Amino acid sequence: MSKEKGRETLSVSKAAASAILCNHYDYLIVGSGLYGLTFAREMTDHGKTCLVIDKRPDPGGNVFCEMVDGITVHRYGAHIFHTNNKTVWDYVCRFAKFLPYTHKVIAKNGNGIYSLPFNMYTFYQMWGVDSPEEAKKKISEQSSCAGLIKNLEDQAISLVGYDVYEKLVKYYTQKQWGKSCKDLPASIIKRIPLRFEYDDRYFTDRYQGIPDGGYNALVENMLSGIPIITRISYQQLIKKYPNIAKRIVYTGPIDEFFHYELGKLEYRSLRFETFLLNQPDFQGYSVVNYCDAETPFTRIIEHKHFTDVKAKKTVITYEYPEAWKPGKDAYYPINDNHNSSLYQQYLELAAKRPEVIFGGRLGAYKYYNMDEAVAAAIEAASKERKENS
Ligand code: FAD
Repeated sequence: MSKEKGRETLSVSKAAASAILCNHYDYLIVGSGLYGLTFAREMTDHGKTCLVIDKRPDPGGNVFCEMVDGITVHRYGAHIFHTNNKTVWDYVCRFAKFLPYTHKVIAKNGNGIYSLPFNMYTFYQMWGVDSPEEAKKKISEQSSCAGLIKNLEDQAISLVGYDVYEKLVKYYTQKQWGKSCKDLPASIIKRIPLRFEYDDRYFTDRYQGIPDGGYNALVENMLSGIPIITRISYQQLIKKYPNIAKRIVYTGPIDEFFHYELGKLEYRSLRFETFLLNQPDFQGYSVVNYCDAETPFTRIIEHKHFTDVKAKKTVITYEYPEAWKPGKDAYYPINDNHNSSLYQQYLELAAKRPEVIFGGRLGAYKYYNMDEAVAAAIEAASKERKENS
């Protein structure tokens, strides 16, 4: 593993990669995100040999960070570790020191600045009401006009009322999904948390933090003693080395594994634009959501606020939701009826390949938070040891 100036890399050289490929492994782990890393760590600690590969240049999946002018930049979007699962918290704390961080988000629409998630600060900013009774009354007056629920718009108005929907939900959601809320199914929003108290913590989980030194420190420690090759896809590797491992853990898209033979699953993608600014502070907050129709991006992330870095410059990232097509990074599975049924059909194909374990957010076609990805991998590794050791 080497470190380049201004940017950390955990990649190995070509010569080291050739030596790694001469061996035979118990497990080939495809994808070095938190699912793949946890599985590899667990099996290695139980005496199995694992090789991890990733098609991206750097390990870590979506939690990979870059160092820009002394500021840790979350390359694939803001990542805040939060969980109520003590086992998972203790597990990740074995590999990194977590700095305390309580995530808060503000939302902008026109000249208005609002607190998220919806709480008494938001209701005061929206209507000037300062008691839970008044806020509840406002919402109930507006939500009762929703009528029959045919789509996401009706559903959201029935949950939060017209004003909150119009100013804070409607355009943000439309930008996120690339569709009008009238054309989105009501099922996307089952519930919208409303807090009738002055509590503006974005996550209320018991454990929350950001690794000291960024997620790369966590990734590097999880990988300790485990060979990894980056910039190589499963499809390239397996053509040349079909017998490299007895079993495979696949955390890439399940439909891609089967060459899309049943059709393509759909995702939403994101585009990130990052800038180093010659000023100490840009927005005074780590994440600001843009909830109006005119602004094309959904949020701006200012990375130094995650760990309170004192630097003369600052780094910001604009996040633009985008349509996905093969070749682009797939971020959010679209779990509607069509895709859920297609995923079930892929699971039937997967049952005919018992040597392959599909996992992680792309293999399981499921939005996982980081703690859920770690928990799922710990469970899969434990099941694997019982059934196949
Ligand atoms: P990934 O991290 O996506 O890793 C999969 C890896 O597999 C990738 O590196 C990919 O390159 C590799 N791969 C895929 N196909 C192949 C192939 N064919 N060959 C070789 N390699 C392959 N969670 C939180 O808990 N808190 C947050 O604040 C948070 N913020 C998020 C913000 C954004 C914008 C997004 C998209 C997600 C966020 N998440 C957050 C979720 C978090 O990113 C996931 O929980 C985590 O990434 C899951 O890890 P994974 O291993 O399943 O997948």
